[in-house]
Amino acid sequence: MKDLLIMRAFHITGPQQGAVVELPNPVPGSGDVLVSVERVGICGTDVEFFNGDMAYLHSGHAKYPMQIGHEWCGTIVEVGVGVDQSWVGKRVTGDTMLGCQECERCATGYQYLCENRNEIGIRNGYAGALAELLVVPEFALHQIPDHMDATLGALVEPGGNALRSVQSAQLKKGERLLIFGPGTIGLLCALFAVEAGYEVHLAGRPGRSLEYAKEFASRNKIAGVWALDEIPALAFHGIIDATFSTEIPGRALELLEPGRRVVYIGISGEPSTIDTRTLVLKDITAVGILSASPGLAGTIEKYGNNLVNPSEIVAAVIGLDEVAAALAGSRPTGAGAGPKIHINPQK
Ligand SMILES: [Zn+2]
Ligand SMILES: [Zn+2]
Repeated sequence: MKDLLIMRAFHITGPQQGAVVELPNPVPGSGDVLVSVERVGICGTDVEFFNGDMAYLHSGHAKYPMQIGHEWCGTIVEVGVGVDQSWVGKRVTGDTMLGCQECERCATGYQYLCENRNEIGIRNGYAGALAELLVVPEFALHQIPDHMDATLGALVEPGGNALRSVQSAQLKKGERLLIFGPGTIGLLCALFAVEAGYEVHLAGRPGRSLEYAKEFASRNKIAGVWALDEIPALAFHGIIDATFSTEIPGRALELLEPGRRVVYIGISGEPSTIDTRTLVLKDITAVGILSASPGLAGTIEKYGNNLVNPSEIVAAVIGLDEVAAALAGSRPTGAGAGPKIHINPQK
C-alpha cells in the first residue's frame, strides 16, 4: 500500500540522467500553499537542464540533482501559516519567478527580475512541479477557472510568454506580424496574434515542426507558413524571434518595417549579435522577453473565455516514469503531431 507521507518525483540526477525518486511529502512553510499537481509541461529549458547545457548550471544558479517543472497546474490541498484557508480546493497555476519581495525591483513590479529570485524548477534549487506535490508561495498563485482543463492550465506559463511577446510588438488590428520559430512559443504567439486581429505569418527551417505548423495554420487562421528562404517580400509591421538561431535576430531587423518593434524571446547557445546601425537607421525598437509573469493573468482570461485554445499542440500526456525518455528526445508511443509533451505526476 502507498505510504501517504511519501510522494514520487522526477529528478535530473546528472547530464542525460534522470530517475523517479520517493521523497517525504513537502510541508508548506509560512506564506506557502501545498498543491496536488495535476499536469506539467516540459519545454526547451528542461531539455537544456537534462543535457547539461543550461546557462544556470554553469553560473551556479542551478545544480544536480534537480526537480524540474515550471509549467503546471493543480489543486491546493493545504495552506501554511498566514495563508487564507479559503485557498484549499482552488485550482491554480503560478508564477515561476519568486522574487525576494523586499528589494526595490520587487516593490516596483519587477519581482520577476529580482536579483535574488528563486525560479520554480529552474533556479536556486527551488523544487519544480514534476512531483505529486508542490510548495508555492501564496504571492505567486493565479487561480484558474474550474472549467479550464488541465491541458490548458499547464499551458498558461508558456502562453504568458507568448502573450507578452505579441503585446510587445504593439501592432494595430489588420497589421502583419512575422514569427520566426514554429515551436511551442511560436505557435502560441501565432494564436494570440490571430485573436488580436493581426495577419500572422510563421517561418522556420524545413522539417517536422514546419510541416506541423502548416497543418496548424490551416486550422487557426494563420495567413502563411514559410521556409526561411521562401519568406515573401511583404511589409512586416512586427517580428517575433522565437528561435534558437544566431542569425535570425539580425535578419529580423532587415525584414522589419522601419519605426517598428522586434521582439526577442528565443535564446541561442552562442552570442547572436545584431548591427545597431540597422536599429538606428531604421528607427527600430528591440524588446527582450524573459518571463511570463506579467502575461499570466491575461493568458488565463484568453483561455478561460475560449478566445484562444492551444490544446492541440499537446502531443501526449505521460507519467513520471516516461519523463527521462521524453527529455532525451524520444516520442511517447501514440503521440500526436504537436510539439508539447505533458506529464500527469499522479499517473
Ligand atoms: Zn518552459
Ligand atoms: Zn527582490
